[in-house]
Amino acid sequence: MGFDEMDVDTIWMDGEFVDWDDAQIHVLTHGLHYGTGVFEGVRCYDTEKGPALFRWEEHIERFYNSTKPYDMEIPFDSEELTEATLELLERQDLEAAYIRPIAFYGYDTLGVSPGDCPTKVAIAAWPWGAYLGEDALENGIEVMVSSWRKHSSSQIPTNAKTTGLYVNSLLAGEEARRNGYAEAIVLNKEGNVAEGPGENIFLVRDGTIYTPGLSESILDGITRNTVIELARERGYEVQDTASISRGELNTADELFFTGSAAEVTPIRKVDNVVIGDGSRGPVTEELQQAFFDLVERRTDDHDEWFTYL
Ligand code: PMP
Repeated sequence: MGFDEMDVDTIWMDGEFVDWDDAQIHVLTHGLHYGTGVFEGVRCYDTEKGPALFRWEEHIERFYNSTKPYDMEIPFDSEELTEATLELLERQDLEAAYIRPIAFYGYDTLGVSPGDCPTKVAIAAWPWGAYLGEDALENGIEVMVSSWRKHSSSQIPTNAKTTGLYVNSLLAGEEARRNGYAEAIVLNKEGNVAEGPGENIFLVRDGTIYTPGLSESILDGITRNTVIELARERGYEVQDTASISRGELNTADELFFTGSAAEVTPIRKVDNVVIGDGSRGPVTEELQQAFFDLVERRTDDHDEWFTYL
């Protein structure tokens, strides 16, 4: 669904609320030419206790951290960004939403060095359902291992959520979709499993849960961290510094993706090889249930992860 079909009319931009249609930038914006922006993707859930941002503080911390390699300074502090976001949701009567903070080098010069380009900051919010579809959450998706490798963290910081990095995500994801798959799995430069284009990946084998470690050129996902905690609380052993070979995908009992957009999405086939029994596995189902019970506040656990409107 395109933005024009949604009931959204306001964007916060550089300290002010502006009409959606007026949230414009110049075509010679540095970030447009060189991918010099950082962003976040956060969900607000319409919970049993009212609308609430999930793990907002961790997302905002990652937002500021993502600017560090680029020497970019966001001219607003985290309280200002939080207030702006809460008011943005209220102004648009949004209860469940996807929130997109972005900071990027703006208009001044087009040398690769950003020189005096100002750091522009915007926050938008709109309704966004299940990223890979409702059916995906229940029945899982079919994915392919992309022929594109993920950039190595020695080439570009992969722990920063930089706009330019997502050209690689587009290549991998669109290659998969052209071939009839819902999403891709991307291997790192060493040939081990890294992550999805916009998701972290988990593997279950013999009751133990594995996920690639941060040194595998992945994003330090906040949903990844959430699921690791939920799994450990339920008594699972979680190996979160794993190095997973491509072949281990095929012999896994279960595989699933995590992400703020993708939430917890089972994977039922990789390159047409059936994973487990080809449906959502029991560990995936338990953790997915725990995740949705958490974010919809059907439990009192981890109230510290929620910012109520
Ligand atoms: N990896 C990549 C490349 C991503 O874009 C995302 C989405 N932000 C994730 C993993 C998952 O991270 P999170 O759970 O923080 O959304």
